[in-house]
Amino acid sequence: MNEERIYLPVSEAAAPLYLGIHFGSFNLKIGVIDSEGHTVSYFATPHNTAECGPDGAARNIAAAVRETLEKTGIGVKDITAAGISFPGSLDPRTEKLHRPPNFPDWLGYPLPAKLMEYTGLQSVLFCNNANAAAYGEFWIGAARDSQSVCLVLLDDGIGCGTIVEGREIKGANGFGGEFGHIIIDPSPGARWCNCLQQGHLEAYASATAVARRTREMLEVGLSTSLQDRIDKDTPLADIPKLVFDEADRGDALAMQIVLDTARFLGLGIVSLLHTLDPECVLLGGEMTFGIRHSGTGEMFLKRVREEIDQRALKDLTENLKLGFAKLGANAGFVGAAGLAREEALLLTVVE
Ligand SMILES: [Zn+2]
Repeated sequence: MNEERIYLPVSEAAAPLYLGIHFGSFNLKIGVIDSEGHTVSYFATPHNTAECGPDGAARNIAAAVRETLEKTGIGVKDITAAGISFPGSLDPRTEKLHRPPNFPDWLGYPLPAKLMEYTGLQSVLFCNNANAAAYGEFWIGAARDSQSVCLVLLDDGIGCGTIVEGREIKGANGFGGEFGHIIIDPSPGARWCNCLQQGHLEAYASATAVARRTREMLEVGLSTSLQDRIDKDTPLADIPKLVFDEADRGDALAMQIVLDTARFLGLGIVSLLHTLDPECVLLGGEMTFGIRHSGTGEMFLKRVREEIDQRALKDLTENLKLGFAKLGANAGFVGAAGLAREEALLLTVVE
């Protein structure tokens, strides 16, 4: 179902206006954002790109952009800059997509250029979903008082968006946020990651890894209320939420799985701190164990912090802000617009 909302009348918005497009694995979200980060209008719809391919999807995005602008009562020329947040990376040399994990047939598609052609927008900045979400938090979310932030996203895989003084860290090949593939276990028996390497963080602390570890424990026959909630037909994607529910109800094994996940994650974040020295680290994504609104979420965060404090250099942890992301599913389009704004401001300074 399409979803449209007007948040702030254009007459009250702080000019100039920017456009943020979030192309998630399943949903398209578009927002017109003013220069202070307020959402002027918002449009969301599910997308199915399997049938139309990248060019059909780009044309659909363009049509949704036109519709959003029309309903907001503004024209394409009223948008100073636009950004698109996408679940994959762009080769910075060719401005064409690498092979996105969820959309392998998009390899080599020049998405930003095509969006400019189909929409008439003057510029479309590309950013991956993690960096866009991190910028959203940096601009108006949980990291708004920090100069640098790493947003760790716990989903099927583990991603990380990094913003330093308003700029995203992209890397030479556009893979600067592949935090899930740092090595936390170098032993020969280490778990296998989806990327076909061993010992990566993602193989221990992603939602998929939590589901697999839970299944292993149940197969051993350990006593837990999870035995009544999970059977061989339970989809892997449903298991982390069931683990959280049972941990919240006081099941010891479920809580152990949550705390083990926190320990693995803490190990990974130690390397992040030692490499990038961020002022703030936020946890986001689908799997945050009830975040701050539950005892389990608090214990999860506390255990991550303990691991960090035990293992990282003291100078890096004393003033470290560690917490949960705030904007949730809105961070992508707000952040994409924010990064486009940042780029536009930089270009103005250079000119
Ligand atoms: Zn890996």
